[in-house]
Amino acid sequence: MSGLYLHIPFCRRKCPYCDFYSRDDCLDQLADYHLLLIRQLQMATAAGWQGPFATVFFGGGTPSLLTPAQLDAILAAVVAGPGLAADAEISVEINPATLTAGYLGELRACGVNRLSIGVQSMDDARLRQLRRLHDAAVVREVVARARVAGFEQISCDLMFALPGQTPAELATDLERLLELRTEHVSIYGLSLEEGTPWGRDPRPALPEQETYAEMYELIHHRLTTAGYGHYEISNFARPGAECRHNLGYWRRTACLGLGAGAHSFCSRGWGRRLAIPPDLDGYRSMLKTGIDPMQSLENFDRRGAMAETAYLGLRTAAGVDATAFRERFGCSFDNVFSAPLKRLAGQLAVRDGCWRFGWWQWLIYDRLIREFL
Ligand code: SF4
Repeated sequence: MSGLYLHIPFCRRKCPYCDFYSRDDCLDQLADYHLLLIRQLQMATAAGWQGPFATVFFGGGTPSLLTPAQLDAILAAVVAGPGLAADAEISVEINPATLTAGYLGELRACGVNRLSIGVQSMDDARLRQLRRLHDAAVVREVVARARVAGFEQISCDLMFALPGQTPAELATDLERLLELRTEHVSIYGLSLEEGTPWGRDPRPALPEQETYAEMYELIHHRLTTAGYGHYEISNFARPGAECRHNLGYWRRTACLGLGAGAHSFCSRGWGRRLAIPPDLDGYRSMLKTGIDPMQSLENFDRRGAMAETAYLGLRTAAGVDATAFRERFGCSFDNVFSAPLKRLAGQLAVRDGCWRFGWWQWLIYDRLIREFL
């Protein structure tokens, strides 16, 4: 079964480190953006994208700037069109600063059953440094309200390796985060991206590589001790609370992306990646004139699909299933990748029939995985 991703490229205020496609200068366009998404959904369905969708993910940007009525209209169009699995996971990213009273209850009533909250830090000074619009008290209130509204699946985003941050400070932040008792935690080590205010000189000084590694280890040990599984480089979950939508991405299952800046993956043949340019005005005018906004990014051949299967699968604790790989590609993982496996000299091992890295190797994942590409 496939997934559906909807990109909501609007934010109240751009954060200085963020390179996601989102705009804070045209919030008036939110009034009919959901209608554009529905129009694109209808076009994609007519072009052969099929449901029912097993997962739906509203990401951004700030999806919680959509009204419950707009979200409801989108989900109704999905149900009336390609369809939604009865047990579909429906996630919405929430910016704690945007919520009005009653919002979460209305979201739950629309069928949304998972929240991903952009907490980033439970330290008010850090939140000010990140120029976020909320504080830690607001986060506690939002999680409490989400529980009252009936949400049983809540994820929190945590940033680390912030300018001037020490491991001791991060340890305190983690304790405060754990008090929220959420089912899932996603972690993001800050990086300075070109084209963002913090990516320009004078750039803030980030912790050294060794400190970064110490922080990553600290997060791993504290969260796994608290009962979370470290199931992907940047993701932790209580048993059974892994994000099904993102698991689909790492397993290369089909995903339709709607909205300006969204990406799609078509799993026919060896797979094809498509993208919609991050250009809100272009997206609007293409849909208004009946032009499909999706553009082809990459058409995989067999070799490319095998490399991507390794690249995505080895990010996860489940790894790459040796039998499934052989069935899919007609050859074994160790034959295809004999050269990189030799160069890695035993750093990648088969456990329970799956090729896997240990979590400590994820710290140098980019270097290790380059061998496969
Ligand atoms: S709220 Fe999120 S998406 Fe928007 S600018 Fe900040 S980090 Fe980026």
